[in-house]
Amino acid sequence: MVGSRDMKRAGLIGFGIQRSLTPAMHMREGAAQGVDYQYELIDLAERNLSTDALEDLLAEAEARGFCGLNITYPCKQKVLPLLHDMSVDAQKLGAVNTVVLRDGRRVGHNTDWWGFAEGLRRQLPEADLSSVVQIGAGGAGAATAFAILQMGAVALTIFDLDGARARELAGIMGGLFPNAEVRGGMDLDAAMAKATGLVHATPMGMDKHPGLPLPAELLNPPLWVAEIVYFPLDTALVKAARDRGCRVANGGGMAVFQAVGAFSLFTGLEPDVDRMLNHFQQLTGGSDTALARMA
Ligand code: NAD
Repeated sequence: MVGSRDMKRAGLIGFGIQRSLTPAMHMREGAAQGVDYQYELIDLAERNLSTDALEDLLAEAEARGFCGLNITYPCKQKVLPLLHDMSVDAQKLGAVNTVVLRDGRRVGHNTDWWGFAEGLRRQLPEADLSSVVQIGAGGAGAATAFAILQMGAVALTIFDLDGARARELAGIMGGLFPNAEVRGGMDLDAAMAKATGLVHATPMGMDKHPGLPLPAELLNPPLWVAEIVYFPLDTALVKAARDRGCRVANGGGMAVFQAVGAFSLFTGLEPDVDRMLNHFQQLTGGSDTALARMA
């Protein structure tokens, strides 16, 4: 019998999050550890709310005794003024995806960047980080750029359909990592010709945004490719990169490891990483080799 001491409540706040696998990952791991753990979706779209409701939603979660909240699009920056404190990396990134609620305090963390880094480290432990190209300079792109620089990238060139956005992110990251060469890119073909690795951080490849974010001809070994889209896991980019002989890390790594980090922060328990990876693999219906390599 699980006592009330072992009861945990947490949730995810975001817009249009019904397909998220995060609740299932947290609850299955909680159950495996003998905790009565409920994790609910607080979907702004379903509740017909705007981000202005964030403050009330945080207060409601606190009143209901939640131990934490994950925060996703479009609230990761909007939540910052509502917090009492932040981890150093979340402060640097200016984005929070995990809020720990304890003793009346709200402390923000960012497990997205660590999640991406851990997924990449495990799927492609030998990845050469001397010259990395990243496509996508949105919220997720900020986390992947931070991760790749934190992992020791020497040069990072960022592209986006919105060139000003790419330059802005490059400026911020260049300030945080002054020893690296970080720039907004102008010529994708030229950058790819020199690149050792590619990080993809746009929605291209999702069911709603089919296709490739760059011509397949630019994917040539020994280039490695790290994808962050994970609906589906085998995106057009993952398939094209594999077909052309490149080593590939899929978007599952970031999805699982951001949850691993948040589970640990929320519950104070050490999650079993292999169990969470296996569960994610079941949820996505895959016998995916890249994910199997992470366990
Ligand atoms: P966002 O809307 O904040 O940013 C996307 C950026 O991509 C925008 O700046 C846009 O201009 C740019 N872009 C779109 N199409 C492009 C193209 N063809 N070429 C160049 N740039 C292009 O979105 P986000 O929050 O950064 O999320 C991006 C995607 O990352 C999501 O759609 C989701 O699939 C994925 N994601 C995965 C995880 C994970 O855990 N694996 C976590 C977060 C997001």
